[in-house]
Amino acid sequence: MICKPTQTPEIDLPALRDKYRQERDKRIRADGGNQYVEAADGFAEYYEADPYSPPVIREPVSQELDVAVLGGGFAGLIAAARLKQAGVLNLRIIDLAGDFGGAWYWNRYPGIQCDTDSCCYLPMLEEVNYIPKDKYAYGAEVYEHCRRIGRHFGLYETALFGTLVRSLRWDESIRRWRVGTNRGDDLRSRFVVMCPGPFNRPKLPGIPGIQSFRGHTFHTARWDYDYTGGDTTGGLHKLGDKLVAIIGTGASAIQVIPFLARHARHLYVFQRTPSYIDDRGNQPVDVEMIKAQGPGWQKKRQANFHTAAFVGFGPGEPDLVCDGWTEVSRNMAAKLEAMGWPQLTFLQLIEMREIEDYKAMERLRRRIDSVVKDRQTAEALKPYYRFLCKRPCFSDEYLPTFNRPNVTLIDVSQSKGVERITQMGIVANGAEYQVDCIIFASGFEITTELRRRFGIEPLAGRGGLSLYDHWADGYRTLHGMMTYGFPNLCFTGFTQAGVSANTTAMFEQQGNHIAYIIKETLARGAATVEPTQQAQDQWVRIIRETSITDRQFWRECTPGYYNNEGEEVFRSHLGEPYGPGFYAFDQLLQQWRDDGNMEGLLLGK
Ligand code: NDP
Repeated sequence: MICKPTQTPEIDLPALRDKYRQERDKRIRADGGNQYVEAADGFAEYYEADPYSPPVIREPVSQELDVAVLGGGFAGLIAAARLKQAGVLNLRIIDLAGDFGGAWYWNRYPGIQCDTDSCCYLPMLEEVNYIPKDKYAYGAEVYEHCRRIGRHFGLYETALFGTLVRSLRWDESIRRWRVGTNRGDDLRSRFVVMCPGPFNRPKLPGIPGIQSFRGHTFHTARWDYDYTGGDTTGGLHKLGDKLVAIIGTGASAIQVIPFLARHARHLYVFQRTPSYIDDRGNQPVDVEMIKAQGPGWQKKRQANFHTAAFVGFGPGEPDLVCDGWTEVSRNMAAKLEAMGWPQLTFLQLIEMREIEDYKAMERLRRRIDSVVKDRQTAEALKPYYRFLCKRPCFSDEYLPTFNRPNVTLIDVSQSKGVERITQMGIVANGAEYQVDCIIFASGFEITTELRRRFGIEPLAGRGGLSLYDHWADGYRTLHGMMTYGFPNLCFTGFTQAGVSANTTAMFEQQGNHIAYIIKETLARGAATVEPTQQAQDQWVRIIRETSITDRQFWRECTPGYYNNEGEEVFRSHLGEPYGPGFYAFDQLLQQWRDDGNMEGLLLGK
C-alpha cells in the first residue's frame, strides 16, 4: 500500500505563532516540575500497592550474584536476555511488580493500547517468532509479549517479584554492590544494571487539599477494578451511580475517558492542556506482507519509522508506518518531490518543516469542529502548540465522548490547573464539583529530579559518593551507560546515548552493549570495570559539541514533561542524546566492540 500525504489546510502563520505563545504563557507555572507530588510518604500507596497480584510471600534472600537487573520491563528483559545469551547466568531481575511487563504490567486501565506501530514497538519479534495482531496492540498483548520474552529466555527463574530496591551501595571490600530491598534481602552483586524505564513512578498533581478528599481516588497506573468493575476491555458497571472526575488529558486519559463516559453517572474531565488527537485507524497486521519481507524486517521497519519521526525522508524512501507520527515527514517529502528535490539549506528545511507542522496541527483542530457539537467545548479541546511539543494521541472515540450529556469538560487552563480539592470534590473556575471518585491521570516522574525518579537512597558508589550529587550538574557518562566512581554499574534509558523514535530499539542497543561489557569483564578475569575520568570527560564533550540545538523549539512549547514544564533549566525527557543520531551511535558502539580493547574503560582486579 502506498502511503499518501494528508490534505492540510492553509494557515496564517504569524497569527498562529502569537496564539501558540499566548497559550504557552497562560500555562507556565513558577513551580515548574515541583508542582507535582511524589508517590511517597503519605502517597506511597499510589506507587507501592499492587492491585493486580496477590502479595508475594517469601523469606529474605541472601545471595551472591553476577548481575542484578533492576526492573523487569522491556529494558530489563532485553538486558537480561542478552546477558544469558552471553553466558552470564547468575543473574536476577528484581521488580516491585508481580510479573514482568514494567509499564505494561502496571498500566491496565480500560482501553490501554500502544500508540506506536506494534511491529516497531514490540521488541525481539523475529527472535521470539511473534507477529502482533493489530497495528496498535492492546495493552494485554504488549504485556503478554513481555511475558513471552521472559519465558523464551528462561528469565522467570531469575525473577524476584514484589521486591522494591531501596538502597544500592558499592562495597569496596568485596568489590560488589549491596542491594537493599523492602524484604530484607542481602544481595551482593558484582554488577547492577539499572532498568527503571521512563514510566516507572506515577506522580500526583500537588493540588492544595489533595489529601482532604473523602471519596475514592487512584492513579491510572494502578487502576482500581474493585471500585469500577470491568477490565481493560471495559464493562465498568460499578460506576453506574457514581460521579467521577478525571484530572489530566494526556495519553493515558485519552484512552480511559471514553470508557468512563460510557459507564459513569456523570464524568467531569478536568483539562489544563488539550492533547492533539488524530484518528486511531487501527487494523489487523498483514502477516503475509510482513513475512514476505524476509529476515531483518523488524529492524528495517524500525529504521524507517526513526527516519520519519526524527530525520525526514529522502527521495524514494517509502513511509512504511504511515500514521500520525510520520505525517509531517511524509507531507514534506511529497512537497520536496513535487519541487524535484531541490538543494535546500538546513534553515530552509527547518522553515518548511515548521509550515508543514502548523498545517498538520490545523488539520487536527478543524477535525475537532467536525466532531464536537458544542462550540465552546470544541474550542477548549483545540491544541495550540507544535507537533511533538506534547505526546501525539490517537483515538476514534475520545472526541465524540464530549457530545454525551453525561460528560462535562472543565477547562482549568486559566488557573494553571485545578484550583483546590475539598472533602467533597474539586474546585475549578470558582465552582465546586462534588464527586464520588477522583482519578489522577497525572503522569509519571520523567523529567523530575533523578532522586525522585529512582527512589533509591542511598545510591552510593566508591567512597560513598552519591550518584545524585555526582550528576547534580548533568549526566557524566561514557556512552550513557557507565559513570566514573561507580564501578560495575550500568544504565539504560535516556542518558547520554542514542535516542530512537522507538524506545525499545534503544533498550536493545543498550542491552547488547552492556551484556558485551559484562561478559568481557568477567572473561578477562577483572573484578571491576568503570570509565576512566578522561574517557568520560571526552564523551561528555562529544555529547555537548554534537547536541542538536533544539532549545528554542522546546522553549516555545506549552509546558509538560517533554520540556520539563517549561522551566529555565532545560531537562529533556530524552536526556542528552548523541547528536549524530541513533544509527550513528549504533555504528560507533559496534566499532568499539569490534576493536576489542574496551577503550575508555578501566578493568580492575
Ligand atoms: P501526562 O504527563 O502526559 O499527562 C498528565 C496530565 O495531567 C496532563 O494532561 C496534565 O496537564 C494534567 N495535569 C497535571 N497537573 C494538573 C493539574 N494541577 N490540574 C489539571 N491537570 C493537571 O501523563 P500520561 O499518563 O497521560 O502519559 C505519560 C506518558 O506515558 C505519555 O506521554 C506516553 O509517552 C506514555 N503513554 C503511552 C501510551 C501508549 O503508548 N499507549 C498510553 C499512555 C501513556 P498539562 O498537559 O497541562 O500538563
